[in-house]
Amino acid sequence: MIQDPIFEIIRKEYHRQNEGIELIASENFVSKPVMEAMGSCLTNKYAEGLPGKRYYGGCKFVDEAEELAISRAKTLFGAEWVNVQPHSGAQANAAVMLGCLKPGDAILGFDLSHGGHLTHGSPVNFSGILYQPHFYGVERETGIIDFTKIRDIARKTNPKMIICGASSYARDWDYKTLREIADECGALLLADISHPSGLIATKLLNDPLPWCHIITTTTHKTLRGPRGGMIMLGKNFDNPWGDLTPKGAVKKMSAILDTAVFPGTQGGPLMHVIASKAVAFGEALQPEYTEYCKQIIANAQALAAALVSRGYQIISGGTDNHLMLIDLRNKGITGKAAEQALVQADITVNKNMVPFDTESPFTTSGIRIGTPAITTRGLKAPQMETIASLIDKVINHPTEEQVLAEVKSAVNSLMADYPLNY
Ligand code: PLP
Repeated sequence: MIQDPIFEIIRKEYHRQNEGIELIASENFVSKPVMEAMGSCLTNKYAEGLPGKRYYGGCKFVDEAEELAISRAKTLFGAEWVNVQPHSGAQANAAVMLGCLKPGDAILGFDLSHGGHLTHGSPVNFSGILYQPHFYGVERETGIIDFTKIRDIARKTNPKMIICGASSYARDWDYKTLREIADECGALLLADISHPSGLIATKLLNDPLPWCHIITTTTHKTLRGPRGGMIMLGKNFDNPWGDLTPKGAVKKMSAILDTAVFPGTQGGPLMHVIASKAVAFGEALQPEYTEYCKQIIANAQALAAALVSRGYQIISGGTDNHLMLIDLRNKGITGKAAEQALVQADITVNKNMVPFDTESPFTTSGIRIGTPAITTRGLKAPQMETIASLIDKVINHPTEEQVLAEVKSAVNSLMADYPLNY
């Protein structure tokens, strides 16, 4: 039998991942059990609805899988209610907005070009098309958010929802102040913790659950699970619009969000992915995972320091979490050119807008670097110094093929000591 050529493509991608230095902040390497659950027969099963309340027969075992995923997620984050069905982070945010907003309602999110996410109100995304988006950003001088300024913007724009959380912001969030601001203008506060969720679950960063009405996350970044999303409530509460159940009781927010996921924005849940989420949450509840998360931050801080010592400008001057955003303008290279040169040397980063960028989103002045994936591979502080020097060589000689080949060879031999082992 001739094997489908897709498997040769997968083999090549495996080698690319195994041999290179993976610095994309939103990526990670899942464990074999997480991978195994994803590639299981649960992919065959339709299970619209929730455990015990499905629209299909034969759901006994997928119910058990989803219940386990939910109970582990609740324990991991200390949440009272969780929905593990969103297919992705964007889907989780879409469901929350569908459940809580009417078309045309004002929303207030972190500016995409300062580190926010498309789903927080970008004009090219449903969130900016269906709702009326307003934005807050970082200070030009510090690269840090001034929370008192968010209060001023909220007073002027009167949002129905304030969204905090980011894709490329290296500092922690003041959820308590944001909740005060949300309460002042009668808005719901949504924390999208897609990026740092693992660092939050392990209490290494501020916890949004006591302060934010609703929390969304992806499951595949620092959380090291399958690609997917999830919605949580620290505490369940009555919906603030007085929506009633058919029996006349005030609907709980959990019921509104469950309905917003299915049938609101999705059809059948991906049961193989939900089983895989359960495996990842089980792993995240182990003490080794906390050690892993501490090492992510230690590595990010070591890498930031090593880059600063080589003259790199890190937005906000450093990092509290797993990533850093580098403004390359003083190095005379765009984000796009840096990304392309680094890829030739088997170092993978992504070009990224920096606050107040003078380049287009396709070119950018910066790159974003994160340590979750290399930390999973076992790299520690001494290797961060090596990585900084390899990056520096490429950035200083982006078109010299000889240099790129030398760096690539150093990258491949470094990573040979930390194999992926799938
Ligand atoms: N929210 C934030 C803050 C993100 O960084 C991302 C992904 O990068 C998402 C949402 C969207 O997640 P997904 O790509 O799974 O839709």
